[in-house]
Amino acid sequence: MDTQMLIGSKFEKGTETEEPILNPKTGANILNLPEASPAQIEAAVSAAEQAFVLWSRTTPAQRSGYLLKIADRIEAEAKDFAALEALNCGKPINAVLNDEIPAIVDCYRFFAGAVRSMPGQVAGEYLPGHTSMVRRDPIGIVASIAPWNYPLMMMAWKLAPAIGGGNTVVFKPSEQTPLTALKLARILAEILPEGVVNVVLGRGDSVGNTLINHPKINMISITGDVATGKKVLQAAAKSVKRTHLELGGKAPVIVFDDADLGAVVNGLRAFGYYNAGQDCTAACRIYAGKKVYDKLVADLSSAVSTIKYDRPDDTENEIGPLISRRQRDRVSSFVERASELKHIEITTGGKPGEGTGFYYQPTVVAGALQEDEIVRREVFGPVVSVTRFSEVDEAVKWANDSDYGLASSVWTKDVSRAMATAARLQYGCTWINTHFMLTNEMPHGGLKQSGYGKDMSLYALEDYTAVRHVMVAHT
Ligand code: NAD
Repeated sequence: MDTQMLIGSKFEKGTETEEPILNPKTGANILNLPEASPAQIEAAVSAAEQAFVLWSRTTPAQRSGYLLKIADRIEAEAKDFAALEALNCGKPINAVLNDEIPAIVDCYRFFAGAVRSMPGQVAGEYLPGHTSMVRRDPIGIVASIAPWNYPLMMMAWKLAPAIGGGNTVVFKPSEQTPLTALKLARILAEILPEGVVNVVLGRGDSVGNTLINHPKINMISITGDVATGKKVLQAAAKSVKRTHLELGGKAPVIVFDDADLGAVVNGLRAFGYYNAGQDCTAACRIYAGKKVYDKLVADLSSAVSTIKYDRPDDTENEIGPLISRRQRDRVSSFVERASELKHIEITTGGKPGEGTGFYYQPTVVAGALQEDEIVRREVFGPVVSVTRFSEVDEAVKWANDSDYGLASSVWTKDVSRAMATAARLQYGCTWINTHFMLTNEMPHGGLKQSGYGKDMSLYALEDYTAVRHVMVAHT
């Protein structure tokens, strides 16, 4: 197992506080990893600064070649990456191997193509006697900070457009899930020029905080909690750094009375509970039409009660445990507080799993009202609430009545109603008759407190490059 950070071309262990890395399926300690010292962080930023001089002058084709090599290596070592991610996050091995790794490989390949064909305004004589052109140039050194729910995928979403755009990076994985980042660091060191990507370990309020306040960092890219995003903005304000924020979500799902109920139930069983609900797009806040509500709650509850999550043979599992004891207890306390309300019924689940792993039963919370905490706050666990609505205006109003604005979905057989409703939703993404599906060509990112950074797609490449105007006088 790789345990060393990548600083320039050197591999070294952190020298500060040790962080225990746990196996969420058992609660057992895998190993302890010490975090980076201020001097090591400084060295990583310096290495990125030096690498920027040449890396920022490589051609798109050269950078594309590097990205393709990274993709090939991840693909060739897919099983090892998947095993490590499954160990560190508690994910079912098949979910990592069959869902995540192909999407990760495709992300590097997408940006390898995208960087060679960025669109933009045409050059021309917009003032007589002068030719103007728009360039998109690298921003500089990016501090990329990732969460624990999809460690290797978040690394791909951050690294591929950043280095594809000609920037250099100091990457910090979540202190809870650094193992695949350390394995990828070995590969990156073999493929990329020294210092283009550096990987440092540590907690948010120590190493993360040092990075976001570092004067030489030009851009901060972070996926994490809203509270963390706000700290990033405060730090960025001091030297006016660019920021790329991907924060939380609380996705509303509007189910009209005419929806295909079988498809809705299958969809919610999959998209509400995938990754044990630790997903900022999880279909967790259902608004069901009054005619369909009772049957939806009954069918969903029985479908959710069949989700396989703690089988000894991991290949049978559909979801895994939560990332930590703390996260499981947090989920548990949300459900406990909800169940104390008279109008709420927990129709399936509602309890932590038995044993030392951090499991929580897949749960349906029926009868929830718009003002309930379970409807308003991000639970980030295998818990879906169902709320009854009467009119479309009420459903849209409730769906939009949220601090978050990342993802949403609308379920109906009436295409006009689907389009009219989708147009009114204040979310970065609205799916119709599905949920959760992502593709590297399309942008992923939010509105409101979900942040404004776009991952994947050409929009990410725009986020990681600066628009510049160059004008030539015809003298
Ligand atoms: P978190 O905010 O606690 O941590 C995210 C990362 O930020 C970690 O690497 C952490 O060490 C670092 N960090 C924490 N405090 C910091 C600070 N003061 N300065 C610098 N870095 C700091 O979030 P988490 O618990 O790891 O992840 C779960 C959250 O991420 C959820 O809220 C979820 O919705 C969100 N998320 C959003 C998206 C999206 O695309 N919008 C995707 C995945 C997860």
